[in-house]
Amino acid sequence: MGLVSSVARPAFSASESPFSLGVASGDPWPDGAVIWTRLVRDALAPDGGMGALPIEVTWEVARDERMRDVVRSGVTLAMPELAHSVHVELRGLEPGRVYWYRFRAGAAESSTGRTRTAPAPNAAVPSLRFAAAACQHWMYGHWAAYRRMVDDDIDFVLHLGDYIYEAPSSSPAAVKQKVRDVPFDIPKSLSDYRRMHALYKSDPAIQAAHAAFPWIAIWDDHEVENDYTATRSQSRLALGALLQQRAAAYQAYWEHMPLRMAQRPLGPDALLYRRFAFGDLIDLIMLDERQYRSPLACPLQPPRPDRNHVVALDACPEAFEPARTMLGQDQELWLANCLAEPARARWVVIGQQLVFAPLLRKLGEKLGFATDGWDGYAAPHQRILDRIAARPNRDTLVLGGDIHAFIAADIPARRSDLGSPAIASHFVTGPLSSRLADHERLTAALPENPHVKFVDARRHGYTRCTLARDRALCEFRVADDVRDPDSSLATLAAFETEWGKPALRRL
Ligand code: FE
Ligand code: CA
Repeated sequence: MGLVSSVARPAFSASESPFSLGVASGDPWPDGAVIWTRLVRDALAPDGGMGALPIEVTWEVARDERMRDVVRSGVTLAMPELAHSVHVELRGLEPGRVYWYRFRAGAAESSTGRTRTAPAPNAAVPSLRFAAAACQHWMYGHWAAYRRMVDDDIDFVLHLGDYIYEAPSSSPAAVKQKVRDVPFDIPKSLSDYRRMHALYKSDPAIQAAHAAFPWIAIWDDHEVENDYTATRSQSRLALGALLQQRAAAYQAYWEHMPLRMAQRPLGPDALLYRRFAFGDLIDLIMLDERQYRSPLACPLQPPRPDRNHVVALDACPEAFEPARTMLGQDQELWLANCLAEPARARWVVIGQQLVFAPLLRKLGEKLGFATDGWDGYAAPHQRILDRIAARPNRDTLVLGGDIHAFIAADIPARRSDLGSPAIASHFVTGPLSSRLADHERLTAALPENPHVKFVDARRHGYTRCTLARDRALCEFRVADDVRDPDSSLATLAAFETEWGKPALRRL
């Protein structure tokens, strides 16, 4: 019995497509990208209804939409231990070019996806446009924002975390806002997380956005569990159980995203932080702010949850301890080196999950801060601010998400002095569909946050940024009605900043 006999000859007919979760591409390099699909017979069945045998899948890449001018093709196996997902790392393509791709299993053919390689490393690139998205809870809305994004002329999509939400919330307030059902409970096992990802991928709007652009994705907390840290679970799992759950969650995330082999988890560990180059215009740094971080400072005592825990400024000295880490030692050193190198491109764009500017909150009469964000990790935050400030040019733009509000802010040089000179510009993308933050409470704190130029927690959508050599423009694109899958979009606000002179200007 050889290998061949243990590979299922796919008996798919053209009408019984195993490609109902769509296709995707990601992590574009100058000579290629990853193309992705996952085969399922029944998306929400524990193993996708695919059985235990590998399935032969052919793929092809063409220079035209009708797939006539095929430049690369191959055969691969969709493996049961990877949920019959397929990740093909394309090589040898031309830089800065659009390609189309598709998969075949038996007589069944996937839809055709479109991707775009990064420009050549030193190519002179006048401008690029990307979208940033985050926080897309299935229950609380439809994804018209993705449906409409497809019409944008953008080069790539950054996903900044909370791609899935592990917890279908059952609080009365949550149920009132519910738009659609999550038909199962909180995931614990690998097959539970696979089913959740399959549910999210079953939506035609997100499939369209994946098929239209290469995505570069990082996770936040809800891909595993709300507010987890390297060694602590909010649901107070023992460490061994947390690591097991993390391994299952990371594995399912990798299986469902267009990620390279280098990002494939090994148990509870995965190398998600990484760097991309888009010609001489953008040096893109993507961070992982979950996997290695110190426990939350000043946690509430059980059984009270830590969700959105805000503490008074003087009530939590632990948050200021220099030994705390957000990125872990290795990643922080890596980032420091990236920032200390001579500039590789005109702009450094940092894609990360959280609000990166300090953000004071109202706590009754007092001022406070959220322990789950960078403010709960003050010392490592200031260390990174110092690295950005030490660059010879003010060339840094930081993207974030997490807080379920759109924010535009100048990033001050010193955390302790919000009026200190701006060293970078910051845009926080609002939720694609998750429940909104407390708008009134955030805006009430605006006078205490002079560096924050805009806050809005009333709308859902994404952020679209256009970087040219001398300026960056970011627009908050929001849906008229998150409950409507066909909603149109409008621009909530647009800001511009100049290269070399970070100061947001509202357009
Ligand atoms: Fe979120
Ligand atoms: Ca989050």
